[in-house]
Amino acid sequence: MRQAPADDIRMPMNEPKKPAKTVEEIREEIQGFFKEKFGADIFTIPLGNAASPAGAQTSESPPDDDEGKPPEEISRFSLRPTDVKAHLDRYVIGQDEAKRTLAVAVCDHYNHVQGAYARKAKTGEDDIDYVKQNVILLGPTGVGKTYLIRILAQLIGVPFVKADITKFSETGYVGGDVEDLVRELYRLSGKRHRLASHGIIFLDEIDKIASAPTPTGRDPSGRGVQVALLKLMEDTEVSLRNPFDLGSQFQDLMQMRQGAVAKRTINTRHVLFVVSGAFSGLHEIVEKRLSERNVGFASAGRTGEEEEDETKSKSVLARASTRDFIDYGFEPEFIGRLPVRVALDDLDVDELFDILRTSEGSILQQYYENFRGYSIEVAFADGALRLIAQKAHKEKTGARGLMTVLESCLRDFKFYLPSTAVRAFAVTARLIEHPALRLEEIIRDPDAACREFAEVAVREFEGDFARSCGVRLLLDDAAIEMALNLSREVGLTLKDLLWSKLGGHRDFLKKITETAGTDELAVTPHILNQPAEGLERWLHSR
Ligand code: ADP
Repeated sequence: MRQAPADDIRMPMNEPKKPAKTVEEIREEIQGFFKEKFGADIFTIPLGNAASPAGAQTSESPPDDDEGKPPEEISRFSLRPTDVKAHLDRYVIGQDEAKRTLAVAVCDHYNHVQGAYARKAKTGEDDIDYVKQNVILLGPTGVGKTYLIRILAQLIGVPFVKADITKFSETGYVGGDVEDLVRELYRLSGKRHRLASHGIIFLDEIDKIASAPTPTGRDPSGRGVQVALLKLMEDTEVSLRNPFDLGSQFQDLMQMRQGAVAKRTINTRHVLFVVSGAFSGLHEIVEKRLSERNVGFASAGRTGEEEEDETKSKSVLARASTRDFIDYGFEPEFIGRLPVRVALDDLDVDELFDILRTSEGSILQQYYENFRGYSIEVAFADGALRLIAQKAHKEKTGARGLMTVLESCLRDFKFYLPSTAVRAFAVTARLIEHPALRLEEIIRDPDAACREFAEVAVREFEGDFARSCGVRLLLDDAAIEMALNLSREVGLTLKDLLWSKLGGHRDFLKKITETAGTDELAVTPHILNQPAEGLERWLHSR
């Protein structure tokens, strides 16, 4: 276990009492010195305020006095894997196996942390045999690796830090940089020391530090980063002061002069590490091993075809073993610290469509907001979303392709429409195919654009409504027109108006349609205006 240098600095107990200078006086002296020497204000140190450098604990930081207890976020953790999976399902489309495995890993990890505190309180001993549930995520870009972990961190309430490992391998002082991530956890946790030490660190592009064999042995730089990480992943005291940051060192000194006693290191024992990468080339290593095994199995009475079918039914990467990772270029100790392995799949067109249409974090929200900023309403037709999903799929950048396609189609709309009379328009398949032409048409006839918008927005609402309670509404033309006029009168978006009118009657609607033996309901202006009365009348008329 490595002790941070700052912790070794102690003030002598019997130092003769001198009138202590104030922090301000010392700062002025130092600034004066630099000004005299270099002729400019080149050295300014933020002191004890919000501008403090990351990791500089000030006397105003919340107390972290009870080291024997987990932070509140961890002690109240009581989720079960199915709860965690259900939460992930709201945001992340597909990746079912990954969601299940991660849900179990996260519950195991934080339950273990709770248990470890309880055991320590009882026996005074640390749990040295436990293997932390650190995770390795394999899979192509843009399929939800970071997204999954970010949502998990939010759900639990712990800080989350992401970095590309390539950044560290290129710099000279690997250990120092990697430790910056722990300091960043501290900053993100609002300088809550105990919370920071239960955060999640996500390292992307981990495959880039695999040290492939060279004619003279193994590539030493990748191995060096693996060793630095290995220490961090286990149990390291990381100084909250960056040893290379003069300002934060100075602050440390000042606080010691003032007699402030603050915990100045963070232990990484309970920090959860998640590493990820595309691992190109690993596929071949796994396949080769599997085919070699096939030969063995075949001679032991199992046919090659049987084994091949099994291989096809699962993602090859999901079957990567410790041996495969070692052959790929990882140290056995390093890969041994990453017991949870999850392979994420490519996203197909249907999943990309669902990401747009049903995911709670859909990027369509951004577009609604972007245009709303100019008082323009937009609605997306299912046909348009399907086309966007198809085009994005060809980009081969996972869900990132969705943003690329949307931006390229809608960039000019964002530029021109705010300066026109257009107040609403629909994104249809035709718009995705011919954006320039459609832009011209919409600007030329804003009323027609608005009518098309209303039609599409209502279909969007009907789809959302059906997904939320299983009742399929069908607004007739008169109801659509009335809803549009009302929305303008009261200053709501069309969809918000419809939710405000019908959303509160969801349970009643469900009951009443069930009683009538259908899941469909035609919505007339009367039902829209007075749902309770209109629905009673509808029921009796059947
Ligand atoms: P990576 O796999 O490269 O880490 P990300 O998780 O950062 O990719 O995905 C980029 C963005 O794409 C996310 O912020 C999210 O909006 C979206 N996204 C990716 N995969 C999914 C998914 N399976 N379900 C919903 N949204 C997704």
